Amino acid sequence: MKYESVIGLEVHAQLLTDSKLFCTCSTKFGSGPNTQVCPVCLGLPGVLPVLNRRSVEYAVKMALAVNCRVNEKSVFARKNYFYPDLPKGYQISQYTEPLAEHGYLDIDTNGGKRIGITRIHMEEDAGKLIHGEGPEDAGSSFVDLNWAGVPLIEIVSEPDMRSADEAQAYLKSLRDILVYLEICSGNMEEGSFRCDANVSIRPVGAEKLGTKAELKNMNSFKFVKEAIEYEIERQIDVVESGGKVVQETRLFDSARGITASMRSKEEAHDYRYFPDPDLLPLVVSAGLIEEQRRTLPELPEAKRERFIKDYSIPAYDAGVLTASKDLANYYEEVVKATNEPKVSSNWVMGELLRLLKEDGRDVKDCAVTPASIAGLIEMIKNGEISGKMAKEVFEEMYKTGKAPREIVKSKGMAQISNEDELSRIIDGVIAGNPDNFARYKAGRVQLFGFFVGETMKATKGQANPQVINKLLKDKLEK
Ligand SMILES: [Zn+2]
Repeated sequence: MKYESVIGLEVHAQLLTDSKLFCTCSTKFGSGPNTQVCPVCLGLPGVLPVLNRRSVEYAVKMALAVNCRVNEKSVFARKNYFYPDLPKGYQISQYTEPLAEHGYLDIDTNGGKRIGITRIHMEEDAGKLIHGEGPEDAGSSFVDLNWAGVPLIEIVSEPDMRSADEAQAYLKSLRDILVYLEICSGNMEEGSFRCDANVSIRPVGAEKLGTKAELKNMNSFKFVKEAIEYEIERQIDVVESGGKVVQETRLFDSARGITASMRSKEEAHDYRYFPDPDLLPLVVSAGLIEEQRRTLPELPEAKRERFIKDYSIPAYDAGVLTASKDLANYYEEVVKATNEPKVSSNWVMGELLRLLKEDGRDVKDCAVTPASIAGLIEMIKNGEISGKMAKEVFEEMYKTGKAPREIVKSKGMAQISNEDELSRIIDGVIAGNPDNFARYKAGRVQLFGFFVGETMKATKGQANPQVINKLLKDKLEK
C-alpha cells in the first residue's frame, strides 16, 4: 500500500421538468426523433432563450439538500465547441459564477466520511447521436435533438474520495437524494444520471496531487467502480515501471473492463467561455430559497436514522427499506397497522422484495396493499395460520391482490388451533401408538417429537404447533 488514490466526481443529473431549460418544448422520454424541437433548441438564428423557472427551483432544492450555499447571483455562460449534436455551436452553462457552492454530503463507508461538494451549476443538455447498425444504414449517423436543451445540473465534488467504494457510495447517495426530491429519475442506463471521474494516485502521505485522468462512459454503478479500480491499478503500474501518468480523458470499455485513452490534454478543448449576452444574470431571491428549504422532504439519511431509532430495526433493514421513498412509505404503512416493526420489516424486505425483484417490478405497481400484509401478520400472531402457510398465502396475495383471509378461506388452509379438536386428534394418535406411548412413559422423552409429527400428519400440517406442544405435554405427562 505505497499509493493512495484521489478521486473526484462530476455528476450530471437531468431535471424532471415538463419543458426544456430555455424553451417550451416537451422533455418527454421516448418520443420519435426530432419531434420535440423548436427554433430555440435547434439553434436557429434570431431566437432568444427564456429561462425555465421550475428548473431553477429544482436546482436550488438539490443545492440545499447537499448543504450548498446558493449564490444570490449566478451567470449563464457560453461553452463553445463544435459537435454534430450541438446545433448552436455552444452549450449554455455556468462557469465562473455558478448557482451554488461549498456543500457536502456524508457517506457511511468505513464509519462515515464527509465528501465536499465544490459547486452545482445549471446547464442545458446536448442532443443524441445514433449510429446506424442495420444493413442499410451501417456507416451512417443520425442526430436526435429531442434532448438538446433539456435542463441539467452538474454536481462537482472535491477530490475527497480515496477508493472506488467511496466513490460508489457517494454516487449512490447523490442519486438517492435526487430521486427522493423527485427532481431526477436517477436512471443511469437512460443517461438521465451520468458520472465522470477524475482519478489520480500519489505516494501515501504526500500532499501534492498526482496527475489525473478523467474517466468517461460509465453508465452503471458497477461500471463506475470497475473503471476506477482499473484506472488506479493502471496508474500504479505506470509509475512503478518508471513512467509518468499523463493528463488525459479515458473511456471505459465495459466489455473489456479497461479504460483507454480518448484524448490528451493537448487535444483538450478550449471552450472560450464568456457570459451569454442573451441571458440576464440569474438572481435567486431569499424567498425562493426559503420556499425550497421549507418543502424539502425527509432525506434518505435522516429517514434511515429515524427508522433505526423509532422502530429499533437493524441498520441493514433500515438501509434496504429506505432505498426508495415509495418502499419506505409502504413499510411505514404496514408498521402503523401492525405495531410490529421487525416482523413487518421481515415481510416487506424478505417476501415482498424477493417477489418484486423476480418480476423486475416496483413497489408502486404491487397488488399487495400494506393493509393486506398487516392482515397476514395479524393472522400469524393469532395462530390462525402457521408461518409456513403464510408464505403460501403471501404468494397468492401477490399474484391475485386478494386479502389473506379470503385466500385462507377459499383454500381451506386455516390452521387448527381449537384445543378440543386437537385434543381429540392427539388422543387418537396416542391410542394408535401404544408401544411408543409406553416407551415415552418409561423415560424415552425424545419420542415427544414423534408424537408432534404424527399429530401434524393427522391434521395435514394444519395444526398450530404451539397448541400441539402444550396439549401433548399435558397428555403424555399426565
Ligand atoms: Zn425547443
